[in-house]
Amino acid sequence: MKPITKTSLLIIASVGILLAAIYAAAQLIVLNGFLNLEEASLERNAARTRDALTDEINNLDRQVADWATWDDSYRYMQDHNPQFIEKNLPEDTFTRLSLNLILFVDTTGQIVFSKAMDFSKPAEIPLPDGMREYLRDHPQLLRFAKPSDGRSGVIVVAGMPMLIGMRPITTSEGKGPIRGTLIMARFLNEAEVARLAAVTHQSLSMAVLAAVGLPDNFRNAADTAVKNKDLALEITDEKKVSAYCLIRNIDKTPVLLLRVQMRRDIYQSGLHTINYFLLTLAIVAILFALVMRLLASRLLTSLHKHQEVERRYRAVVEQSGEGIFLVDVDSLAVLDANNAFARLLGYSDRELIGLNLDDIFDRLPGIAHNFVSLVMKARGHITHEMQFKRKDGSWLDVETSANVIEHEDKQVLSIVVRDITERKLAQERIHYLAHYDPLTNLPNRVLLRDRLQQDLAHAERNHWMVAVIFLDLDRFKLINDSLGHHAGDRLLQAVSARLNSCVRHGDTVSRQGGDEFVIVVSEVRETDALNVIVEKLLNAVADPCNVHDQEMNITTSIGICLYPHVGEDADTLLKNADMAMYQAKATGGNDSQFYRKDMDDRTRERMSLENNLRHALERGEFYLVYQPQVDLKSGKLFGMEALLRWQHPQLGDVPPMKFIPLAEETGLILQIGEWVLRTACAQMQEWRRQGFDGLRMSVNLSARQLLQKDLTRRVNAILNETGLPSSLLDLELTESMLMENMQENIGTLQSLRQMGVAISIDDFGTGYSSLAYLQRLPIETLKIDRSFVRDIVARDGDAPIALAVIALAHSLGHRVIAEGVETVEQLEFMRDHDCEAIQGYYFSKPLSVEAFTALLLSGRDLPLPGLTSLQLVKG
Ligand code: C2E
Ligand code: CA
Ligand code: CA
Repeated sequence: MKPITKTSLLIIASVGILLAAIYAAAQLIVLNGFLNLEEASLERNAARTRDALTDEINNLDRQVADWATWDDSYRYMQDHNPQFIEKNLPEDTFTRLSLNLILFVDTTGQIVFSKAMDFSKPAEIPLPDGMREYLRDHPQLLRFAKPSDGRSGVIVVAGMPMLIGMRPITTSEGKGPIRGTLIMARFLNEAEVARLAAVTHQSLSMAVLAAVGLPDNFRNAADTAVKNKDLALEITDEKKVSAYCLIRNIDKTPVLLLRVQMRRDIYQSGLHTINYFLLTLAIVAILFALVMRLLASRLLTSLHKHQEVERRYRAVVEQSGEGIFLVDVDSLAVLDANNAFARLLGYSDRELIGLNLDDIFDRLPGIAHNFVSLVMKARGHITHEMQFKRKDGSWLDVETSANVIEHEDKQVLSIVVRDITERKLAQERIHYLAHYDPLTNLPNRVLLRDRLQQDLAHAERNHWMVAVIFLDLDRFKLINDSLGHHAGDRLLQAVSARLNSCVRHGDTVSRQGGDEFVIVVSEVRETDALNVIVEKLLNAVADPCNVHDQEMNITTSIGICLYPHVGEDADTLLKNADMAMYQAKATGGNDSQFYRKDMDDRTRERMSLENNLRHALERGEFYLVYQPQVDLKSGKLFGMEALLRWQHPQLGDVPPMKFIPLAEETGLILQIGEWVLRTACAQMQEWRRQGFDGLRMSVNLSARQLLQKDLTRRVNAILNETGLPSSLLDLELTESMLMENMQENIGTLQSLRQMGVAISIDDFGTGYSSLAYLQRLPIETLKIDRSFVRDIVARDGDAPIALAVIALAHSLGHRVIAEGVETVEQLEFMRDHDCEAIQGYYFSKPLSVEAFTALLLSGRDLPLPGLTSLQLVKG
């Protein structure tokens, strides 16, 4: 059975029982009351009827008394004068007095006069049968002790009831002897009863007890009334009730029954009242039942909904990936928790219940309590980040969202817990990345500025100095480009470690980016100590370093700036240290410089130079000069080296040693170099077109260019573009740059060689080429650096080197060109030692296109002087 049906039945049953009970009670109490009322009313009516009869009798008695004490009546009893009768007792007297019978009886009992009338007609009737006999049989009725006595009441004569009054006939003063008895009577017949009924507004009927065929109910009522104050009540039927009044005759024997009947209006209205009441009650009950049913069904629906919501809530809570638990706000006991929460903390479900918030919360005592009051004050969700203690004692980073809810009539804390370990890690990582350099784990520029500012504030209070040391590795770009970023990274890491080892704990070593480092020495009391640190830094970096089984040498340029002498704030100090570093670099690197005020100008100059350089190419400020190369055997011109010049409108001729390193640093050399190659090749073609054939063009290639992946393609494109045969091009590469990225360089050089382009090694002798590599390179010519040539005659040391270089070149099968030959001695030395060719001022400085064309036109050769003494000895 459905719950709603069950409830409905229950309601109907209880309402039914209630109605029945009320009905019974109403019957019992209310109807009884009505019955009592009815009885009282009936009794009252009976009394009224009896009173009315008594009134009639009394009236009759007074009338009799009137007539009996009348002197004329007295006289009549003496003289029996018929005139008295004629005069005083005509028929209308009977009618007026409503009398049926008047008797004058003398003292012996003899009727002196009698007359009977039907006063309603009126007509004289015979004296009723048995009247005389009745008077004779009841002589005591006519005897009176005193003149004032009288007798009145009801008698039944021969079955005829009548009201009777009897008085002794005396004089009006009541004196003299009693002359007889005056009797007056009125028949208590149907008409008289009807009159009584009309007077009393009752339904009346009468029965003579002695009569034959008296109905049973009358007889029974008579029996009851005899015992019960002459009154008997009877419920005749549903509609009527009756009261029977027992009427006694003059000698007190029961003779008559007067029945007063009454409609049961009271009882009926009682019944109606009850019925109405019940009907109303039933309607109310039905309405009540309907309302109850409605309420019940509402209640049930809401209960269902509630259960449904509860079930769904349970499911959501259980399925939730986030931990959810409930805590009693007073005891802080865990009341309920989902699986996810148990998993987060490493407890089983069972273990969780009964735990206390204090067991889970942060380490500080009382914090759980504070947390609860905080949430209760918040009136809504409030979110925190905190740590929860796991079962194994470890701490878990969580975000909690808590609020107060009603749960089983209690205030409880509902806490949703999310594991934010990942987020925390990410935050830490972000913080780390924002403040540290991931490669070297050194503080980055952001953190450095912070620390510097702190150090400055500290120093200001303590009146000591702070040093900002700016380091930039020398030629690091070259290493990075040639050996690859991986090697570059390793080197940076090694350098970082070394820098760190040179300073004290409170000092900061940071990486600014690239190969720049800034060190803040937070407490400097004397500059001597600082010098020691700087010296240590220079040495630490310069110490050879092994990366990927390859020994690397790197140096650094250091700029130093002292607070408070040459800068008050972090920005200025950093800028000044940077500037000082530039100066150290400008002097050739591996050096340190303290910042001086005049450094600003030089740095600015360098910066503007860089800026100008960026625009030089597009503004056509570059041009090439060509330096002849001559053969030492024949003295003939066989080629030239293209050399770059920069003519700036304001700065004038900028020396290559000044702008080429800058172009390399900034990467501009790539475009510039390509322009040089194209221009030189085109120029060569031009000379060939003019008929000067058999010459070879040498073009310098920077390390950056050599690292270009598509160098071969680019060179090929230019050759195709200008139409110069590849065999007429010679590319010059410095020794040091070849060595730095040997493996890749070999590949590039071989493909160039296959194209037909010749390769020369420039400035040979300044680097430390390993023989093994040298052998593997597809090289044609070695150019002896002019530093070796310059002093071969004057100084002893350089001659053996030059000789060794020539010998080595020859042993590998290479040609040798001596650079920077300025004097005849140098020329002779070279020629004497089988050097193949020379390039130098002795024969010609680098020449403009026009000058070179003129040289070609002149057909001038190298004037070969006579043999030196040495040659003579040999010969
Ligand atoms: P380098 O390749 O060693 O060029 C030879 C340098 O020696 C030239 O200097 C030249 O003028 C100078 N020289 C030649 N003979 C003598 C002499 O008898 N005595 C003296 N004292 N010097 C002599 P320059 O033109 O100033 O070039 C300097 C350096 O600039 C070059 O050295 C080369 O490394 C670089 N360079 C010049 N042009 C280019 C270029 O187009 N591309 C690249 N990458 N570098 C270039
Ligand atoms: Ca060169
Ligand atoms: Ca050179």
